[in-house]
Amino acid sequence: MMTLTRFAGWPVIAGAGLAGLTAALHLDRPCVVLSPTPLGDEAASMLAQGGLAAAVGHDDDVSLHIKDTLDAGDGLCDAKAVEEIIAAGPSALATLLEWGVAFDRKGEDALDLHLEAAHSRARIAHVRGDSSGAGIMQALIARVKALPRIVVLEGVTLDHLHEVEGEIRGVWLNTGQFIPTNFCILASGGAGALYAVATSPGSNTGRGLAAAARAGARLADMEFVQFHPTALDVETGGGRAPLISEAVRGAGAVLVDETGGRFTEELQSRDRVSRAIARHRLDGHRVFLDARSGRAGKGLRQLFSRQFPGIARSCRSFGIDPDREPIPVRPAVHYHMGGVATDLHGRTSLTGLWACGEVACTGLHGANRLASNSLLEAFVMGRAVAWDVNNAPRERHSCQNPSRPARLGAASFGQRMDRGAGILRDHDGIEALLASLAPLAERDDHALVGAAIAAAALRRRESRGSHWRLDCQEPSAVGRYHFTLKDIGLQERSTVCA
Ligand SMILES: Cc1cc2nc3c(=O)[nH]c(=O)nc-3n(C[C@H](O)[C@H](O)[C@H](O)COP(=O)(O)OP(=O)(O)OC[C@H]3O[C@@H](n4cnc5c(N)ncnc54)[C@H](O)[C@@H]3O)c2cc1C
Repeated sequence: MMTLTRFAGWPVIAGAGLAGLTAALHLDRPCVVLSPTPLGDEAASMLAQGGLAAAVGHDDDVSLHIKDTLDAGDGLCDAKAVEEIIAAGPSALATLLEWGVAFDRKGEDALDLHLEAAHSRARIAHVRGDSSGAGIMQALIARVKALPRIVVLEGVTLDHLHEVEGEIRGVWLNTGQFIPTNFCILASGGAGALYAVATSPGSNTGRGLAAAARAGARLADMEFVQFHPTALDVETGGGRAPLISEAVRGAGAVLVDETGGRFTEELQSRDRVSRAIARHRLDGHRVFLDARSGRAGKGLRQLFSRQFPGIARSCRSFGIDPDREPIPVRPAVHYHMGGVATDLHGRTSLTGLWACGEVACTGLHGANRLASNSLLEAFVMGRAVAWDVNNAPRERHSCQNPSRPARLGAASFGQRMDRGAGILRDHDGIEALLASLAPLAERDDHALVGAAIAAAALRRRESRGSHWRLDCQEPSAVGRYHFTLKDIGLQERSTVCA
């Protein structure tokens, strides 16, 4: 075992997406950022197309953005989280502009804002049309590289948290090394790639979440997994499903089947559109997004490749020309509303562990995330975590020689997840998923996260937001589920200092 004494006591940030890099940039001291890949690769933040939602339009107001977020969340949002995070939107956007993010403009003064599904106003700030995430991340990566106090360890991941009596004393890396510290910031992204068909990058399988859960952190809203209605329906050989942004429907494209007929309203919330498509596919239809003619004269009329150049490129790489033909689409897992429960400082239930971005659950999204609210949350909460760490007492207990826990597996359960905890669920399917994963959870991170999703889904005997139970389709008065692994009968791991 090798202790990395050079970094002893430094904040360790696990994950280098928007949340992790925002936290690093707002810290007031040296920190370590763990990135499994070269900086920016394999982060969902890099892939974001639509952009970042903020109420800055001349006809917009924070109260309208709050209302849209609460409506999408279907009765399960934490109202305080919604108010605070949404209200921070304009200042988040202002900081990103100051940092050099080249958001698209309409003339000299005004930002060009897109409309997306379930937003009552055009409020999505974007970069180079549909390259929003890459545009934001490139600016942040340049700033990180220019700051010597931020040490990025590429090819390195967080394996385990070393917890003693509810307090973090250090982190174990995949290299077998240990960093003694009382400050760990979990920013390891979502868990979409646990499923067979997902838009998320392959590293988003919830392993950071698993490490927090095994250390005893409370989880929340785990049953809520958002499906994006329109991923490209092509054979990817097991890779990520390319996304066709909501902004394409916002710009007027329509959903049709092989007959050319429409079968649903395109601008409903994501969960409704996803279910409509899933049901239509179950009835034997194929589904397409037609960007050629459009709703009520709002067609893209051969402008697709100019307005959405990245998406057009992605379609063409599969032999589809969106200017001339309908794009085949299907729903795919896209976002995890659940995660490690935090307050609005990003504090988890463990002292010394903060979480931000998609791995965390502040309650902003409730049962269903409003499109483009997650980049906003990743930035606002990354900043909030850093501010809280900056104010936390520096010296507590650390641990120099802990015994190293066993390395854990990460097998593939994609088809089982799709079947048991997909868009349309029922008691028997969820129960079978839980029964198959729970016995493996002690030794396998993917099984652990899948089992936690299934356990929460089994308990929620109602349909709400992205959680749709065919056996109980009515909503009931059930609140949010917060739980630890012990509460759902799965084993935590205890560690001791040698
Ligand atoms: C295709 C696509 C398009 C999207 N479009 C939009 C959009 O337009 N607007 C919007 O608001 N949201 C969008 N989202 C969602 C949004 O991109 C994510 O929710 C957000 O970027 C999450 O940021 P993050 O920093 O939490 O995670 P990520 O950006 O995923 O970064 C997490 C990082 O942690 C790393 N990691 C994983 N495990 C570990 C570990 N154990 N140790 C260390 N590091 C680890 C990962 O490799 C990754 O680099 C989109 C998502 C996808 C997949």
